[in-house]
Parts: sequence; structure tokens; C-alpha cells
Amino acid sequence: MVKRKKDGASLEIRAHHLLCLLGFRGLGYSKEFTENMRNVLATAFSADTLLKIVDRCDAICASCPYREGSECVKKKDSAEKTWRQDQRIAIRLGIKIGDELPSRELWALVRGRIAPLDLPQLCDGCEWLDYCLRFSAELASAASKCNNVRE
Ligand code: SF4
Repeated sequence: MVKRKKDGASLEIRAHHLLCLLGFRGLGYSKEFTENMRNVLATAFSADTLLKIVDRCDAICASCPYREGSECVKKKDSAEKTWRQDQRIAIRLGIKIGDELPSRELWALVRGRIAPLDLPQLCDGCEWLDYCLRFSAELASAASKCNNVRE
């Protein structure tokens, strides 16, 4: 059965944050940010969590010092850049902004449609890119991670 959060909602994730979740190894913008990231990560990889794909601030941005309302204000052009990144990744995955998918299905899509060699193009301009590339082998095991989590 697909799980919703206690309030009945799905977990909102920006399309580009699917890749950030795979690359996350404990670094972030603040202690609060990394703690929240760990929680979101655990929920997002729980096999039957329902994830809603968005192109505005999400469950990860919620604890980010660079969020203002539903906008990323990290740099002058961050709102537009991150929005474009979300569109690129949604298109690559063949999904639409607003789609809701069970975690297992979504990570299988990521595994099937995004290869580590795609990251420089998909994540062009991201300050974490070099860091993520070191761990890009994780992309290949995205779905198996999902399969290993507790139901
Ligand atoms: S930098 Fe911007 S897109 Fe990234 S988590 Fe913070 S608010 Fe969200």
C-alpha cells in the first residue's frame, strides 16, 4: 500500500532534488539542513512513500537558510536556475511537475533514465556537482536501495 504522510499529503520533492538525495553524504548548508535532509532521505527511500514532483521549494528546502517562502534565493538567479534544473530532470524522467509516484516506481525511473555521465549536463552550474560525481555510482543502485528499506 502506498503511504502518505500523517496529514494525508504526499512528500513534495523538487525534481532536481531526486539527484541531490542520491548524492547526499552528510554535507549541507547548516546543521538543521543536514538533519532534515537525513529525515527526508529516509522517507523518500521508504519503498511505498508517495512522492509528489514539484518545481518550487519542497521538503528539503523547508530547512534551508536560502529559502524565502517558496523561492530559492541563494543567488540572484537561483530561483530560475533551479526551476530550469527541475524541468530538465522531469523531462528526462518522462514525468510532469505535479505527478505523484510511489517511491519504488520513481527510483526505478531514475535508475533507468539517468546515467552518471548525464550529471554534468543535468546539473550544470550546481556547486555540488563535483562532489556528487564522486558518488555517482549510487545512481546505479537507486532502486536496490529502495528495495532494501523496511516497509
Ligand atoms: S539552495 Fe535553494 S533549491 Fe537548494 S535546498 Fe536551498 S532553497 Fe532549496
